[in-house]
Amino acid sequence: MKKINILIYGATGSIGDSVLSLIRNNRDQFNVHGITCDKNIEKLSKLSKEFNTKKIGIGCYNKELDYKKYFPDKKIFFKLEEFKDMIDDTVDIIIFAISGTSILKLSLDIAKSGKIVGIANKECIISLGDIILSTAKSNNTKLIPLDSEHNAIYQLLNNNDYSFESITITATGGPFLNKNLEDFKYIKPEDATKHPIWKMGKKISIDSATMVNKGLELIEAKHLFNLNINKIKILTHPQAIIHGFVTYKDNSIFSFMSYPDMRIPISNLLFPNKIVDLSDLYLDLAKVKTLNFYDVDNKKFPAIDYAKYVAEMGGLAPNGFNYTNDKLVNLFINKKIKFLDIIDFNIATLEKFFAKNSNIKRPTIDDIFSFNKWIDENIYLGD
Ligand code: NDP
Ligand code: MG
Repeated sequence: MKKINILIYGATGSIGDSVLSLIRNNRDQFNVHGITCDKNIEKLSKLSKEFNTKKIGIGCYNKELDYKKYFPDKKIFFKLEEFKDMIDDTVDIIIFAISGTSILKLSLDIAKSGKIVGIANKECIISLGDIILSTAKSNNTKLIPLDSEHNAIYQLLNNNDYSFESITITATGGPFLNKNLEDFKYIKPEDATKHPIWKMGKKISIDSATMVNKGLELIEAKHLFNLNINKIKILTHPQAIIHGFVTYKDNSIFSFMSYPDMRIPISNLLFPNKIVDLSDLYLDLAKVKTLNFYDVDNKKFPAIDYAKYVAEMGGLAPNGFNYTNDKLVNLFINKKIKFLDIIDFNIATLEKFFAKNSNIKRPTIDDIFSFNKWIDENIYLGD
């Protein structure tokens, strides 16, 4: 049997770990064509040896390093601009798991590839919206969402028709679900990256703590499933056993349940027939016993209401929310701003922009890049 050839962007991250662990246990079925990192050369080098990958991509070029020592006989692609050239006719599946918003150009090249793409990076869907989805469609690129909630809805809708009333994506509520709002001002980056359920990269962990992640996911769902924002509900569910619901007109509900582990949505991509041994993810509901559900506390977590507002504005606004958030999260990680500033400064930045500029309903990629340049120069960081 011919092996499936996989190219993994962001192989050294948390999603990369989950993908490679599935491949490690099924080496007879997969070949790893290429892997990339930003700075973590040591880990990339180990993975390259283990999986005997043909191509290597390195985001952060350091002229002091002897890359040939780390990657003898490999073809190396430097900086995000060269990453697109790692795609060739032999690649069957692309995993797109680089974090953040620096990947917008690369995401469009991937959307042009005509391949099957497991898309973990939600930022590109939020910023580029219809541009990326229509590019994928016209190039026969199949985008399969790896975000657990969206993959759950994707699987539910693949088995059912589209005559539903609404979809619901669940939220764990992050590490501060039960913390008093008065104490939010003391939150440090090391508190915000400790997620109670999911082990993820820093950026998305902080997004989960502010619940900006769920706001971004709302916009992600709008584009992926082509829905009005009022058809998408969010429900806090701390156990993260149910990832998504589809509710029909007769008020019957289909839900998707699994142990909270990213290998489940990734295995939907790698093993669509569902024949794969994941026995360590057996879900013993008698042990779980209770599943709780709550409405989101919008006072503590204003990000979701704000995400709805920017989603309804459309045009440039979702990208503004997403790109500004990425910058503010970096500043918070580097202790330059406080936890509550992440959402407050985001709202203030967009207010400042839209006070002087009108929205562009159908922005081009150049409109989006010039807006991002404006944000780089004018982001609100307090008076
Ligand atoms: P990590 O921070 O764990 O990994 C990020 C990966 O991207 C690493 O390989 C990193 O390289 C690489 N990278 C980051 N910036 C750059 C850059 N500028 N140029 C080149 N490579 C870069 O993130 P996650 O794996 O947690 O998340 C990846 C994406 O998947 C995010 O968009 C996230 O929102 C999404 N996602 C993640 C989930 C999860 O459970 N982790 C769930 C749902 C979605 P290096 O190691 O060298 O820094
Ligand atoms: Mg998610």
